Amino acid sequence: MTAAIEVENLRCEFRVHTGLMSAEKRVVAVDDVTFSVPAGSVLGIVGESGCGKSTLARLILGLLKPTAGTVLVDGKRLFDLDRKARARLIQPVFQDPFASLNPRRRIKDIVALPLAAQGTFSRGEIERRVGGILERVGLSAAMGERMPAQLSGGQRQRAAIARALVLEPRIVICDEPTSALDVSVQAQILNLLADLRRDLGLTYLFISHNLAVVEHVASEVAVMYLGRFVERNETDALFRKPRHPYTQALLESVLTPEPGKGVPDIGLGDIMPDPANIPPGCRFNPRCRIAVERCRHEAPTRMVRPPQGMVECHLA
Ligand code: SF4
Ligand code: MG
Repeated sequence: MTAAIEVENLRCEFRVHTGLMSAEKRVVAVDDVTFSVPAGSVLGIVGESGCGKSTLARLILGLLKPTAGTVLVDGKRLFDLDRKARARLIQPVFQDPFASLNPRRRIKDIVALPLAAQGTFSRGEIERRVGGILERVGLSAAMGERMPAQLSGGQRQRAAIARALVLEPRIVICDEPTSALDVSVQAQILNLLADLRRDLGLTYLFISHNLAVVEHVASEVAVMYLGRFVERNETDALFRKPRHPYTQALLESVLTPEPGKGVPDIGLGDIMPDPANIPPGCRFNPRCRIAVERCRHEAPTRMVRPPQGMVECHLA
């Protein structure tokens, strides 16, 4: 099977100034990440906020340059493609459709923008394509005449999906596409994304902090912690038999949610992962329930098991 996305040894560093005497610090947001996504499948990426998921999305969209490593989309080097070619191949759907839709334009004009930006489509062709994709995502022609503020959250996300698909890309990067929506609307949008993928043969990278959502949509899942993939496996295998202690803690938190708490308690204490202060040894060791002495000074290496799975833990 051909890979729609191939990422090799991807690394992204930022320099940040800390308040203290303006010292400069290196933050490694994405650290040696390698994976590929077969055409037509869905790779889910899960992890807490600040783990580097969104930075990874921006790298693969070409919005950010990596410090090292390569990204191939549809077999082509991402940074050899110009903006227009990239837009025809890969498109994003972000969390907050309200922030990503221009409030002063009608929905149909927003959806038309990627076509207009190519500079090769006639007005008639643009109208025909916009009408077609609006209908495909469940928005009427009348909705197309409205402004974003006149739509519900779910309708706005449908519009954002229409804009992402109007150029008929092969790959869609979904970054928390349903996190801002009511639960009932979430399911509708997830079903729509699943239908579109099947009917149009799309490949998704699906980023979420919500494991239930990822289990529902993904064929494979990668778990990210402080910039690294610590475990990756086929969805069923990962949920049935998680091998990394972090994955296990995340899954337990889904099975036994804390009633009445806004923030899920994942049973790892109150040490928040800080990308500017990555612990020596295994980066997960301060929160790991089974850490041994070796974990505090030696980073585990990637263990790859056929066909696709990997885990980074001395004890897995
Ligand atoms: Fe825990 Fe050690 Fe495995 Fe890291 S390497 S996840 S600290 S057991
Ligand atoms: Mg994010």
